[in-house]
Amino acid sequence: MKRRVFSGARPTGRQHLGNYLGAIQNYVALQDEYECIYCVVDVHALTSLENTGELQKNIHEMVLDWLAAGLDPGKSIIFAQSHVPEVMELHTLLSMVTPLSWLLRVPTFKEKVKLQPHNVNYGLVGYPVLMTADIILYKAEVVPVGEDQVPHLELAREIVRRFHYLFGDTFPEPEAKLTSFPLILRPDGKEKMSKQLGNDIELALSPQETIDRVMTAVTDPARQYRSDPGHPEICNVYSLHHFFNPLRLDEIARQCRSAEIGCVDCKMLLATAINTTLQPFREQRAKLATKPKYITDVLADGALRARVIARETIKEVKQKMGLL
Ligand code: SF4
Repeated sequence: MKRRVFSGARPTGRQHLGNYLGAIQNYVALQDEYECIYCVVDVHALTSLENTGELQKNIHEMVLDWLAAGLDPGKSIIFAQSHVPEVMELHTLLSMVTPLSWLLRVPTFKEKVKLQPHNVNYGLVGYPVLMTADIILYKAEVVPVGEDQVPHLELAREIVRRFHYLFGDTFPEPEAKLTSFPLILRPDGKEKMSKQLGNDIELALSPQETIDRVMTAVTDPARQYRSDPGHPEICNVYSLHHFFNPLRLDEIARQCRSAEIGCVDCKMLLATAINTTLQPFREQRAKLATKPKYITDVLADGALRARVIARETIKEVKQKMGLL
């Protein structure tokens, strides 16, 4: 029996290089070793979304990117969170066993309050409970996370232990599978790539658009002239060469430090490598994009399969809580 993995991602629309290097590649790799459940957490998105007009489009584009990158609905369950209403039921039941103090101390809650003081909704406080419900509804044993998400998973484990203390053993305590989510900087070198920040490199860009984006990237700020020696260790472009030109890293670093190579040439090298790497993805994406119904079918089938597991869990939980 393969161990079960669960991972959820917010519907952020077209995926960018940060998503690809930090999550999607890993999702694809896990499929052979684990029974994988990948969920588009559209209900979570409502905690910060005030305009949901783009939500369906974003889900569609994101899943299209996942499938084009190699997620295989024949191997993994791929679905949207809201299509399995049992998760809302489990969220409510878990909220009865989760002390409020645990939730109020979560650092991301405090950060969100600062980010959206005009919209401090209950969902922001209850987010870790819904996240726990996402994972344990499917009795997932393994959750791929980056270092920064370990505290969230620890809270999920605490909620599970509290449920077990009150109602008896029911769920596996989900384990973190640490993934090295690389820090991909924006082309301006300042912050992590993210859809919200806009200035990103989407996987689905055309080769020329990719070149144009890479050409706008900020490099070593101390290298003002072509003849100035560069410092690759602080250069955003060089950080991406780690992934797209791993065999030429030493050579690029040497050429940069000795000013043998200019930043324009170096960026072109990177953009070319990105385009070569993404070519199969783009071809597959173009094919899938002609079949929008296929994405809908994948999500519908995923929800059906997820609900089979979810219904069993809810029945067991209700029995243990004295509701049946
Ligand atoms: S040559 Fe390349 S690594 Fe060096 S500063 Fe320019 S872009 Fe960065």
